[in-house]
Amino acid sequence: MNMMTTGAHAPRDRIVVNGRQYHRPQRTTVVICFDGCDPTYIETAAQAGVTPALDAMRSRGHFALADAVMPTFTNPNNVSIVCGAPPAVHGVAGNFYLDLTTGETVMMLDAAMMRAPTILAGLAEIGSKVAVVTAKDKLRKALAFGLDGIAFSAECAQGTTDEEHGIADAAGFVGLDKPDQYSAELSLFVLDAGIRLIEAGRADVLYLSLSDYVQHKHAPDAPEALAFMAAVDARVARLIELGAVVGITADHGMTDMSRPDGVPHVTYLGDVLDAAFGKGTTRVICPITDPFVRHHGALGGFVRVHVLDGSVSHRAVQDLLAGQPGVALVLRGAEAAARFEMPEDREADFIAVGDAGVALGACATDHDISQLAGERLRSHGGLSEQRVPFLLSHPVAKSDENRRLRNFDIFDFALNRVG
Ligand code: ZN
Ligand code: ZN
Repeated sequence: MNMMTTGAHAPRDRIVVNGRQYHRPQRTTVVICFDGCDPTYIETAAQAGVTPALDAMRSRGHFALADAVMPTFTNPNNVSIVCGAPPAVHGVAGNFYLDLTTGETVMMLDAAMMRAPTILAGLAEIGSKVAVVTAKDKLRKALAFGLDGIAFSAECAQGTTDEEHGIADAAGFVGLDKPDQYSAELSLFVLDAGIRLIEAGRADVLYLSLSDYVQHKHAPDAPEALAFMAAVDARVARLIELGAVVGITADHGMTDMSRPDGVPHVTYLGDVLDAAFGKGTTRVICPITDPFVRHHGALGGFVRVHVLDGSVSHRAVQDLLAGQPGVALVLRGAEAAARFEMPEDREADFIAVGDAGVALGACATDHDISQLAGERLRSHGGLSEQRVPFLLSHPVAKSDENRRLRNFDIFDFALNRVG
């Protein structure tokens, strides 16, 4: 179904998507979602002198801090960026849900949850050569929603086909072996693929979405993090050298959620609720849950709580949750949807946000902490990870609007405001 909001008489050098206008770019335009890139990674790498291209973007282009959408997870933010709109508009407010109609938990692995068209699909429709490259395949179908163009993941770059991905044998095209899903190379492959697509004339609008493997594992000043920042920087330099306008933002930041002794700092709300009201009367959903368990053990700073048993008092649930150590905020679903621009009809009875540095979990038995293999828990999901960098390679025209800058404004800036 064609869900574009472009009117039949609209000029073909611009589109209107989700109420905002975007120009078809005259220059190659690349937007990078730097997964998990807390602003401290940019700052620390700059101080270490390992990111000359990012430094030049800051001094000669445009640099600001923007707010990611809540919850600060990968899927809601990536979809927001390509839609130029918050979850209330596009419907994706987590990686993992309790389907309220079936009572089953579902992983978002396709575009079934999406209710809005993307800027990418719109630009392809008016003639841009659009390519989407993601680190993880779980995001590819959502980002390629309605797109007539190229879309593949580093994770599954081998065996891509023209029919499904818009490019045959993407791995062969990029000329690199498929990287391990738990590696920094997964993200670097995405950037290398973008470079190859531009060099080969296959794309002029690109969305490149990285993985936050390194940030989950390493603090900004760790040698591994600095090496990764330097490797990303070298590829950004090449994109700029190729004449591209480059915009970089992140889907969320990253916070250390371990106690000083290294043990993850977790409040297991499922256990608390089961003890108070009985097992099966409530259900805690961790929307961070995805197949990349070694990143985070499905622990982050935001959970949804469903009350399944009609005899359980909602007020009692809310009071109990709000009184737990490490819980910063508990809201009823409708209130949370309004405050955080999430789709109200998909909201749980309650949401809970953790204090900075505290993860919220379901039951302790639901989370395999051993997956962290002794590393400190670093994760995201709450308000503490909402600040993200917002960088452009070129100066931008001043805006007279006085509105809050969001990560999903990045296409607006890259397409409409670069001089
Ligand atoms: Zn992410
Ligand atoms: Zn993550």
